[in-house]
Amino acid sequence: MTLRPALIVVGGVLAAASLQVNVGGQMAGPAPGEGLSESYRGSQSGNVEYQKVPPIKVFDNLYYVGPGAVSVWLVPTSDGLILIDTAQEPYVDHVIDSIRKAGFDPADIKYILITQGHLDHFGGAGKIQALSGARVATLEEDWTLIEEAYQAPARPGRPLGVPVKRDLVLHEGDTVTLGTTALTVYKLPGHTPGSPSFEFTVYDDGTPYSAFVFGGPGQRNGVEGGTQFLESLRRLKTEFGDIDVPVHVHSYLRTYPYDSGGTVFEPAAKLAERKAGDPHPFVDNAQWRRWLDTAEAGTIKYIEDAKAGVPVR
Ligand SMILES: [Zn+2]
Repeated sequence: MTLRPALIVVGGVLAAASLQVNVGGQMAGPAPGEGLSESYRGSQSGNVEYQKVPPIKVFDNLYYVGPGAVSVWLVPTSDGLILIDTAQEPYVDHVIDSIRKAGFDPADIKYILITQGHLDHFGGAGKIQALSGARVATLEEDWTLIEEAYQAPARPGRPLGVPVKRDLVLHEGDTVTLGTTALTVYKLPGHTPGSPSFEFTVYDDGTPYSAFVFGGPGQRNGVEGGTQFLESLRRLKTEFGDIDVPVHVHSYLRTYPYDSGGTVFEPAAKLAERKAGDPHPFVDNAQWRRWLDTAEAGTIKYIEDAKAGVPVR
């Protein structure tokens, strides 16, 4: 169930020499020709310690608290915390630790929003709900996927973790409000039959920017799913093409062939070196548009392949 959309499975480009990290006294890093973000689902996908990246403050009200391969976004509000996705075991304690390291109390989480009924996104929801009492929310279609996941036998090496039960059911057009923060819910299916997506405002030292989490950014399920995904992409281009900040659910989503590298750790490296007056590296409408163009081209090919009988995910 790990997300590997065909459209972004293309060779890495970013120079890797300076990207090694020390893991348990051993240097680990991207393989030759592999970008940093790419390494988290590539050569280092099974390296648990390597995946435990430190939290990143990206905006006044947006923190990255996930492992390397699967984003978990923390949205602090005036009345508690909102968590978008949870990762899965064995990374759930890392997510909880990252929230603490970022300066917040996980017990203050009021909402856990799940972008997909896939284990890598919802696998930590039960444990985090148990320690916080948060409401867990996703679309009807994704709750059904979550329930099916608990009914199926666990796959080796893919522990299901603490189960989460159907709680809040989101709908297109709903608003999740906490304090003065509001996230608008959209249904953009194709990766899963629901794939809730969220629009909200982030602040860079008080300056507001529109942000968007596309919940299911990879085509799945052959001609039918691919066609649904293409419709979602075209809706995104029409209705949300102007957003300032794409908030990606996987670090390795990329805008090949326009850019090298991924869409979380590469701009985060620039953010760490940002000087006063520099633009914010995550405020990047051009990157969002390139991602949409790349995804659309990849999806058209995916549908053609599926129609031609080429095996697709
Ligand atoms: Zn998925």
